[in-house]
Amino acid sequence: MSTLQQQQPMPHLEDWDDFIAGRYREGKAQEEFRVYDAKANPGVAEFYRQNHQHQTLEYVRAKEAEYYPLSRGKKSIWEAAEFLNTLVDDSDPDTDLSQIEHLMQTSEAIRKDGHPRWFVLTGFVHDLGKVLCLYGEPQWGVVGDTFPAGCAYSDQIVFPEYFAANPDSKVPEYQTKFGIYEPNCGLDNVHMSWGHDAYVSKVAEKYLPEPAIYMLRYHSFYAAHRHGAYRHLMSAHDEQMFRWVREFNPYDLYSKGQSKPNVKELRPYYEDLIAEFFPAQLDW
Ligand code: FE
Ligand code: FE
Repeated sequence: MSTLQQQQPMPHLEDWDDFIAGRYREGKAQEEFRVYDAKANPGVAEFYRQNHQHQTLEYVRAKEAEYYPLSRGKKSIWEAAEFLNTLVDDSDPDTDLSQIEHLMQTSEAIRKDGHPRWFVLTGFVHDLGKVLCLYGEPQWGVVGDTFPAGCAYSDQIVFPEYFAANPDSKVPEYQTKFGIYEPNCGLDNVHMSWGHDAYVSKVAEKYLPEPAIYMLRYHSFYAAHRHGAYRHLMSAHDEQMFRWVREFNPYDLYSKGQSKPNVKELRPYYEDLIAEFFPAQLDW
């Protein structure tokens, strides 16, 4: 395996999304779920090995310090979406979706269900944090299920066995149930593994309502929103807000089978929607 393949084990960033969609396919039996994990494509397994090994508390703190000041320059939402689209890739254009198409498929499914405009917009921006890849961040620092760093790892996280190679697993202070945190301290005080969720939620924080920020920030926190793990760190307010995170998740996972959105035709609607909530240019 070349060094590059070791760094970027998945041919496409979407391989992770597809893996998750398969893992949580609607109506799937528990046994099937396990089989799916064991037979997971080796690229995805290697991706998780790297993710679980390298996402230490120290790494997370360093990335928060690097990106939370939003000092990567100004861009409009649409420019960010077009920038993200450059991430593609040698995939077959007839069968695979571009990044903008995934965003629009998600937001169009939300719109069809009659949800409020801010919710539709949240669907459209939810993966813009993946531009981290274009800044040179490795796949394991952009996508993957997120989890709290600095406390015991839940066995509800995919491939928990890979955490053995994380240096934090040798730090006793980080391996108690609460680790460095207080009981029910609230997720705002928790250092989540670094990735596209944390980044896009920081970018959007000043402009979208709080339920939207929860959807953005925790949409990959499957251990919590799908499996109910880490409730001992959540505040009562987090519990209430996770209703929205759970409401959002099916649109992200299950809108892919639907017809390809016509980006050109839909663009004016989205330009209006974006202008309603975001300034023309914002900090990234
Ligand atoms: Fe995502
Ligand atoms: Fe997504």
